[in-house]
Amino acid sequence: MPTAIITGASQGIGACIAKRLAKDGYDIAVNHYPSDGDRANAEAVAEECRAFGVRAELYAADVSKYADCEAMVKAVKADFGSVDALVNNAGITRDTLLARMKEEDYDAVIAVNQKSVYNMLRLVTAVMMKQRHGRIVNVSSVAGLYGNPGQVNYSASKAAIIGMTKSVAKEFGSRNITCNAVAPGLIRTPMTDVLSDELKAKMIEAVALRRYGEPEEIASVVSFLLSEDASYVTGQVIEISGGLSM
Ligand code: NAP
Repeated sequence: MPTAIITGASQGIGACIAKRLAKDGYDIAVNHYPSDGDRANAEAVAEECRAFGVRAELYAADVSKYADCEAMVKAVKADFGSVDALVNNAGITRDTLLARMKEEDYDAVIAVNQKSVYNMLRLVTAVMMKQRHGRIVNVSSVAGLYGNPGQVNYSASKAAIIGMTKSVAKEFGSRNITCNAVAPGLIRTPMTDVLSDELKAKMIEAVALRRYGEPEEIASVVSFLLSEDASYVTGQVIEISGGLSM
């Protein structure tokens, strides 16, 4: 069976992608942040994946750290034999207006959202090159396409991911490795639960479909981009925002 690594898969969009790919027939490497709470959540996700008859194993790794990613990719390769798909999903926010944004809030968001993508791309493309096959999806955001007040750090990280996606698509296309990005809009997850009702209502007014997206609606597009149906799609950014901007 093909193997997929999903980073930050203990909750939200990542957990949903893991379950969808298990349903698609992938063995799943469930990455979670190294904490007891994340491990418990990730174990529940893995259990739901196994219900589809596939293997699912947990890998604790802080993806902002290269050494953690290196150990994880090595372990996944040893456990499953291949890495066929990678979904760079882990992400955080530290929202505040630029005038109040502390250097540590900028650095933390860049480390988790952007550096992690470098770490995983570097390590996993090495495996995929030898296989002469691979599928990668990076989770960006509409903030990376259009910007957002209070998210200079987050927008920077998510815009960078788009550039990285296109560069990797060009560098590795001849090796039968595709690399695409998705740019979700406002999706119902623990990340957006913390926004004020007033802000949520204002944001939804700008959405053509006038509602939140659900994590399943991201997972279905990721599933497509990783599938053979998308074999001639690479270097693209698919916005999944209910028509936030047209
Ligand atoms: P979420 O519920 O907060 O999930 C993010 C996951 O990433 C959590 O499991 C989190 O673990 C994990 N994570 C954070 N830092 C990590 C690290 N250093 N190493 C490993 N795992 C780490 O957020 P979400 O809404 O599902 O977001 C998933 C992705 O979609 C993110 O990249 C986000 O930027 C993007 N996105 C979300 C939305 C939205 O509206 N929700 C919109 C656009 C883009 P912890 O629980 O320990 O933090």
